[in-house]
Amino acid sequence: MLDVSGIRSMHLKHFGDDPRVFLAPGRVNLIGEHTDYSGGFVMPAAINFGTLAAVSRRRDGRTEIWSENVGERAAFAPEEMPGKRDGRWWDYPLGVAWALREAGVEIPPYSLTLQGDVPLGAGLSSSASIEVATAVALLSLSGAEMPREQVAKLCQRAENVYVGASCGIMDQFIACNGKEDHALLLDCRSFEFRLAPIPRDAGLVIANTMVKHSIAGGEYGIRRREVEEGTAILQRHRPGIRMLRDATPEDLENWGAEMPDPVLRRCRHVITENLRTVAAADALEAGNLRKLGDLMAAAHVSYRDDFEASCEEADVMVEAAQRLRGLIGARLTGGGFGGCTVNLVEQRHAEEFADGLAEQYRARTGIQPEIYRCHASAGAHAVEEPG
Ligand code: ADP
Ligand code: MG
Repeated sequence: MLDVSGIRSMHLKHFGDDPRVFLAPGRVNLIGEHTDYSGGFVMPAAINFGTLAAVSRRRDGRTEIWSENVGERAAFAPEEMPGKRDGRWWDYPLGVAWALREAGVEIPPYSLTLQGDVPLGAGLSSSASIEVATAVALLSLSGAEMPREQVAKLCQRAENVYVGASCGIMDQFIACNGKEDHALLLDCRSFEFRLAPIPRDAGLVIANTMVKHSIAGGEYGIRRREVEEGTAILQRHRPGIRMLRDATPEDLENWGAEMPDPVLRRCRHVITENLRTVAAADALEAGNLRKLGDLMAAAHVSYRDDFEASCEEADVMVEAAQRLRGLIGARLTGGGFGGCTVNLVEQRHAEEFADGLAEQYRARTGIQPEIYRCHASAGAHAVEEPG
């Protein structure tokens, strides 16, 4: 649970100053997986789990950061500021400060308190939420204005270059630009986006498999290389294909035979996923939830069979959902190999759906899952103290 007055008093206790407080959300991706880094389409929603960042200026030149989640303080005198990653949690906020400074923002010495309720490492992007919360907090301290799109890009740069984790733009973009009760269709090349309303009678039920297979990090890189390899083959025939997002199913029919087997299937996933994602936004805008659910189901099959980024536990969770009353659509969300499934559910059945899903998953895997009933929420913003 996020606790705004709690983080204020915590900040005061640790640092002796009254802070300004900001919130950036985690996200759930409804559809469009592994499409962002090849310039394609994604459709996430920000969720009502996020990270609070409380910030105040320091007069002693030091930088101090407290994470309530870790229960640890990172403290640096000016001459001790790490110039590169330590492989620790503070890489995320320090990476953001680094990226902002590289972009010319002057950040004064600061105290920062962080507290999040996005489960860490579960595929709901606690990383983007800590980055964007830190970015808006530090920007406010420095008095600099920056368009949201640039904030997202700098946070992505912090994660790619400073933290050293490869990721596309989706997570940071939605943490910046989410809107209450809306999903966001993003063109990851042009950064154009469109908000599509999620009807009030449809609920988001996120189911944490509680597993993250250790291959996830390595496989992410392998998938990116496979996608690049396939793109290069198509480009030889049709130079108009600048990124895989430009390729069509016909291109794959014409030249897919030149690709080694896994590469062909990886590209087929990405190409069809882009089509599904745009169709999903159209369906949501038209209020056609049945169509959206079918697209989510097809996306899971493609992610599982062509992209081979699912895992047994996630497949069990998706299959279990399909047998429960109220389901509109279910699929594994996020980078793959574990993490969470996203379920779009008729609101009036959401409670029994959540209970039934937990029960079935536990019966079939022996693992007690965590189920989060969420709603689409706003992007990063300042928070006022209640009352
Ligand atoms: P995900 O983004 O799916 O949650 P990542 O591995 O990308 O998973 O990011 C998780 C990491 O982000 C954590 O291991 C931790 O280092 C960092 N992090 C996120 N939130 C916090 C927080 N409130 N305090 C400290 N570190 C955090
Ligand atoms: Mg992450």
